[in-house]
Amino acid sequence: MQTPMCWSCGAPVEAAASFCAACQAVQPPGQLDHFARLGLGRGYTVDLAALDRAYFALQRRLHPDRFVRKQPRERAISQQQAAALNEAYETLKHPIRRARYLAELMDVDLPGDGRTIDDPQLLMEAMEAREALAEAGTVAEVQALERRSRDESDAAIAALRELFTRADQAGIRRAILRLAYLDKFVEEARARRLNLGSAGP
Ligand SMILES: [Zn+2]
Repeated sequence: MQTPMCWSCGAPVEAAASFCAACQAVQPPGQLDHFARLGLGRGYTVDLAALDRAYFALQRRLHPDRFVRKQPRERAISQQQAAALNEAYETLKHPIRRARYLAELMDVDLPGDGRTIDDPQLLMEAMEAREALAEAGTVAEVQALERRSRDESDAAIAALRELFTRADQAGIRRAILRLAYLDKFVEEARARRLNLGSAGP
């Protein structure tokens, strides 16, 4: 692969570098994946403190105040870098978004955002949970269902570490579908709880 060159001074720049080492000009975001952009190894387990450090350090260097007196071209490039940085950070910080993103990098076949459930066992589980929610007559009962779903969600996230380590594509796919459904269920339960709460007793 050809070494990229700084658009400003022509010096070679490393693919993962946001700034030219020779002239300090900000570089276009390029085709880096989110992990490389933040200087992290590719994997589901992310050191969140390291992620924050890398993000805030770059964000400071890309702050618009630093580019007020620069040429329009450099200002525009800094904005592209900042947008790519934010996208990378938000994706990697959120455990479900991170799982989906990493699964895509691994070519796991995921359904679109329509969140169709095509797994019979999960479909059954979702139907039973919806029934229980419909039958819950008090705020406390709904809260118990919400809590259970949150616990299951936490357990699925913990299980993903192992699944990604083993590169178990079918397991990763199932866990991501399950998380999407649990996420949606918690939202539905919250709506139902608010309904019950306002109607009393
Ligand atoms: Zn340069």
